[in-house]
Amino acid sequence: MDCCSHEGPAKGDAKFDFKKIADGVHVAVAAPAYKVNCNTAIIESDDGVVIVDTHSKPSAARVIVEGLGDITKKPVRYVVNTHFHWDHWHGNEVYPVAYPNAEIITNQLTREAMVRKGLKRIQDHVRQVPGEIAKLKADLAAAKSPGDRAQLQADLGHAESYLAEVTALRPALPTMAFERTMKLYRRDREIHLLYLGRAHTEGDVFVFLPKEKVVVTGDAVIGWTPFMGDGYPEDWVATLDRLAELDFTHIIMGHGEPAGRDWLRTFRGYVHDMVEAVREEAARGATLEDVQRRVPDRLAPTYEGPFSTYGDYRPWRAGLLRNIERTYAMVS
Ligand SMILES: [Zn+2]
Repeated sequence: MDCCSHEGPAKGDAKFDFKKIADGVHVAVAAPAYKVNCNTAIIESDDGVVIVDTHSKPSAARVIVEGLGDITKKPVRYVVNTHFHWDHWHGNEVYPVAYPNAEIITNQLTREAMVRKGLKRIQDHVRQVPGEIAKLKADLAAAKSPGDRAQLQADLGHAESYLAEVTALRPALPTMAFERTMKLYRRDREIHLLYLGRAHTEGDVFVFLPKEKVVVTGDAVIGWTPFMGDGYPEDWVATLDRLAELDFTHIIMGHGEPAGRDWLRTFRGYVHDMVEAVREEAARGATLEDVQRRVPDRLAPTYEGPFSTYGDYRPWRAGLLRNIERTYAMVS
């Protein structure tokens, strides 16, 4: 970084690929980064724009605000947060500043999780990221190949810019919260905000456009091995089955390229088969170590390929071992 001025808002290093899904419905697909950014769904209606999720830091949300100019001149009216994880709401503060009438919406469970856990995790990051930066610097000093050095240099830049932004964050909590369902009736479009049960978190919000047959899933469905650290593996499949009852053809996921219903079947199959395998092993009295040794070999023939599209960035087996650990703790 050759930046020398700290005046004004941070310049964004987040990269997005804007894609049209249906008339007036777009997705900004986030490029992989050391500090992950989520995708954003962009839904245009006659009177303004609905944005779904705001990434890990304000500068990433500002990249979206800039990119929006190429899609529409209408203002953002609503920002929806699908869940309380940092990489889906840390950019919230950008929208009320850019669009003074913008409201931020989520469900009551997710708003409570932001207050109880999300705000604390911001302080955890402020304390922890300097350690990550020190490790990246040490790894960089020890790196031998030009490829490794370039990657570590890029990761270090991301970690440093993330630390600067998370330290200065002014968390913008949702201004509106609903219980189970909220429907926005625009002249040209219906936008349904749904709670379908626990999955990736206790309060996952799904956004469903019945006319356009599009659903936005947050991290309840993603393009790589799901993170289950705050999740409910035993409830997840039932929630996905309720999702599957909706009539849609396009899925905008929290991470990864937009997909169709075939990916939902694969993703559901993975969660189902992993949970059942761990349950079976635990019922027979297997230790966590045994389960972590045996279950990956059982699942690999079906799932290692489909879940390795982003394998260099999010390796399947590493994610699976963490999923097994979480599930084992919950079933035993
Ligand atoms: Zn998440």
